[in-house]
Amino acid sequence: MRIETIAAQAGHQIDAQTGAVAPPIHVSTTFERDADGEYSRGFVYSRSGNPTRSSLEAVLADLEGGQCAAAFSSGSAASAAVFQALSAGDHIVAPNDCYHGTTTLLRNVFSRWGLETTFTDVTEPERVKEAMRPNTRLIWVETPSNPMLKVTDIRRTAQIAHDAGAVCVCDNTWATPINQTPLALGADLVVHATTKYLGGHSDVMGGAVVSATDDDFFGRVREVQRTYGAVPSPFDCWLVNRGIRTLHLRMKAHGENAMSIARFLSDHPRVEAVHYPGLKDHPGHSIASKQMSGFGGMMSLQVRGGRDEAMNVAAKVKLFTRATSLGGTESLIEHRASIEGLQSKTPQNLLRLSIGIENAADLIEDLEQALEN
Ligand SMILES: *Cc1c(COP(=O)(O)O)cnc(C)c1O
Repeated sequence: MRIETIAAQAGHQIDAQTGAVAPPIHVSTTFERDADGEYSRGFVYSRSGNPTRSSLEAVLADLEGGQCAAAFSSGSAASAAVFQALSAGDHIVAPNDCYHGTTTLLRNVFSRWGLETTFTDVTEPERVKEAMRPNTRLIWVETPSNPMLKVTDIRRTAQIAHDAGAVCVCDNTWATPINQTPLALGADLVVHATTKYLGGHSDVMGGAVVSATDDDFFGRVREVQRTYGAVPSPFDCWLVNRGIRTLHLRMKAHGENAMSIARFLSDHPRVEAVHYPGLKDHPGHSIASKQMSGFGGMMSLQVRGGRDEAMNVAAKVKLFTRATSLGGTESLIEHRASIEGLQSKTPQNLLRLSIGIENAADLIEDLEQALEN
């Protein structure tokens, strides 16, 4: 089945008893045991398994072309479960330009649990090779990256991981499976913050790990999910499933709007730089063109001047909302350095845009008036 059909029919199964077309939400925490002591219907207790969650997991696996998936209560819980599947003494290679929360998890939390991490420019295969150690078990990829929209060659990086007996994990939150399927390019696992495009309406937190094969590594991720219990509620699973039904249409609109806005911004005299992989002069454009079928709705721009000039533009927008996060139908603008805090290496004049699915001309007019002196 093609991806649009998988998305449009996410969780769709006619209820045999009632004929209900929309899927039910199974809120039960516990499930009946058979007279002979078995659980022939497959569910025991909702932390370890729930029908609404299973339905979402099946859709996520299908979308990414994986064998299995585990849903979590946030994207960060999903990333943490991948790290928890490693053992003390293992080494990770991670991008130096990556979602701030992932960096914080590795730096502040997992360092105390005996995981070592080398942060490097994962977009450069030579840097990745240099960072590898005999105990390297995992290479983390995030492409396009946050907030500089750097592009990593997934196929090449997965090869480096496999040559060293390590796994390659790709955070596919920004691209979504509509624009990029890392498992088809050789990655072993995909991580998602379903909070973003998959949910798609800025109203639900969630995360997922999808695995190419139902192997030992995924078994450990599944064990972490069931025993630590950072599981999403049935209602949250249902909301993500509902969001997925229009994912392909939304991604198309996000991408078209983003392309128009990136072109407008690149021609604007008050804009020093625009980071969007769809632009021909973006350093990652040729790799992105090969491994992505669309460039997505995320971009960042650098305003001429410094922090004050950037803050001033953010202060003047009317249609864009000043807020963190991304992937909703509404456009957001954010001064990234100030949300990332003191350790942030993000340029002070950078604004990150999550382009929504409004009319592109309205968004452009809003940015135009905000960029006026
Ligand atoms: C938001 C985000 C996360 C974390 O997801 P939460 O649901 O906020 O925990 C991870 N990776 C990327 C790329 C993100 O944008």
